[in-house]
Amino acid sequence: MHSLFSDGELLPSELARRALVLGHEAIAITDHVDYSNINTIPEISAAIDDINSNWDITVVLGAEITHAPTESIPALAEKARELGAKIVVVHGETLNEPVVEGTNFAAVNCKEIDILGHPGLITKEEAELAKKNDVALEISARKGHCLGNGHVANIAREVGNDLVIDTDTHSPDDIITFERSIEIGLGAGMTKEEILKATIDNPRKILKRNGIEI
Ligand SMILES: [Zn+2]
Repeated sequence: MHSLFSDGELLPSELARRALVLGHEAIAITDHVDYSNINTIPEISAAIDDINSNWDITVVLGAEITHAPTESIPALAEKARELGAKIVVVHGETLNEPVVEGTNFAAVNCKEIDILGHPGLITKEEAELAKKNDVALEISARKGHCLGNGHVANIAREVGNDLVIDTDTHSPDDIITFERSIEIGLGAGMTKEEILKATIDNPRKILKRNGIEI
């Protein structure tokens, strides 16, 4: 999810409140970053601590490395970790934006990355590297980014990648229910079993590896 600390519309507290009402157990706030704003990652941690100690939802601090030169992705990921990001996403080569070619490869080649967001027409070689480096691939609920979902689901099945179904929330209407996430998965050609892994097991696995149990 993105807050108004990048290009989202809501404060972290409203994101959490709206997600809680729709039944989410956990959300990650992964604002877009490059070298211009990466130092702002910790600015929302006080709000996250406040939410986590008072409400029945887990909010995770993260970052999404976005439209950065591919050469800088490993250093940006390391910096995001140092600044407290528990989930590090890379804004992949969506069919919807002119993301620089090689971004998917740079992301799956970096062990610090948890999720390659909307990887568009990811190649089999990139998917194999993602599996080796434990980088999950995203099935996106967001319009535009979702154009590659069918391809991503197919290649992940062939290679054995972990998938996650993400909302990529920017505005209130982007926050989806569990039922809607099942529809998104079915629309991508996923089986019910694959969808449950991508909505429950795989997110839990990523959080656990980063020290967060839910
Ligand atoms: Zn993105």
